Amino acid sequence: MPRIPVVDKEACISCEVCTHICPEVFEMQADGKSGVHNPAGAPEEKIEEAMDNCPVACIHWA
Ligand code: SF4
Repeated sequence: MPRIPVVDKEACISCEVCTHICPEVFEMQADGKSGVHNPAGAPEEKIEEAMDNCPVACIHWA
């Protein structure tokens, strides 16, 4: 079963980096923060690229 990424919305600074790197999984949501709209939408390597480039490291595996 694929791992599920989650965004810590308290820590997210809405920079949109993750949504540019991996739009298949992350989107900017109505609360102004990034969120996961399709947890299995991309390979784990691409999700981890988004995690690694988040400036506040607020994307984690559930
Ligand atoms: S990269 Fe991190 S801080 Fe930037 S929008 Fe995504 S979750 Fe938020």
